[in-house]
Amino acid sequence: MDTRRIINILHSDTKFSMDTAKYLKSKLIKLGYHVPNSFDFEAELIICIGGDGSFLRAIHQYDFPDIPIIGINTGHLGFFAEVNPDEIDNFLDKYTAGDYFIEEINPLEATICTRTNCIETRGINEIVIKGDKSRTVHLDIFVNNHLIQRFSGDGILVATSTGSTAYNYSIGGSLVDPKLNVVQVTPLAPINTNAYRSFTSSVIFPAETIIKVNPEYRFENSIVIVSDGNEHRYAGISEVVLQLSELDIKLLRLANYNFWGRVINKFL
Ligand code: NAP
Repeated sequence: MDTRRIINILHSDTKFSMDTAKYLKSKLIKLGYHVPNSFDFEAELIICIGGDGSFLRAIHQYDFPDIPIIGINTGHLGFFAEVNPDEIDNFLDKYTAGDYFIEEINPLEATICTRTNCIETRGINEIVIKGDKSRTVHLDIFVNNHLIQRFSGDGILVATSTGSTAYNYSIGGSLVDPKLNVVQVTPLAPINTNAYRSFTSSVIFPAETIIKVNPEYRFENSIVIVSDGNEHRYAGISEVVLQLSELDIKLLRLANYNFWGRVINKFL
């Protein structure tokens, strides 16, 4: 029986990512690890080489695996990534010495119901409910079964704390320290006129909140649900229920990880 410890390497298809993966694989093999050619669900770690987009795609592609994951940034921003390609040796020293911790984050899950069935989707950063084909949407928004607003505008974005630095931030949402497990709802181009009243800033709810969204009937076929950039279109969406999942995504963080340090480096 092969008793070697297993590490999955995933990479984007740029030459830089592929070269980095080759280097990393040779280093891991020298350290006695097994690096399989295809994804192994028995692995102790996933190393994802690319940008945040590759990181998100990897988690979606392998259905939110229960395996710690770390990113090596060969992309543009690399907010998720812990390691730069020139720090691989240092990372491996720290990993083998156990000089790291696991940050557990809960993705959002949405149950999207049509008249005939319900479909589930998950988002690590966010789930967006917005107008398809540039239509204004009118959404009844319920929080724990209380109607809080009939919203009119381009749509709403529901973000995790981890996703607060992504699309949420670009549309004026708040940055949230990931130690706070909350759900943030941020409006996309809300309409505020004598005809329509919509909230204009983010609203932040506790982790256990259930948000239910009913699109106004005549616009049922003109909304699209986008989870981490993946679009979902279904005929006759009548209800979308969102809440934080009980599932944990395990982000491997090096011992010196500091969220606000990263915000300053990447944004400010
Ligand atoms: P994408 O090109 O993969 O990502 C768009 C940008 O968002 C990239 O610069 C990406 O970093 C960055 N990003 C992703 N997750 C982040 C996070 N947690 N914190 C900070 N920045 C982050 O776009 P996509 O495939 O359409 O969607 C993937 C994600 O991109 C979505 O979940 C959404 O949050 C974000 N997005 C942002 C906007 C916007 O800001 N206007 C619009 C659409 C989507 P890398 O360069 O390292 O990949």
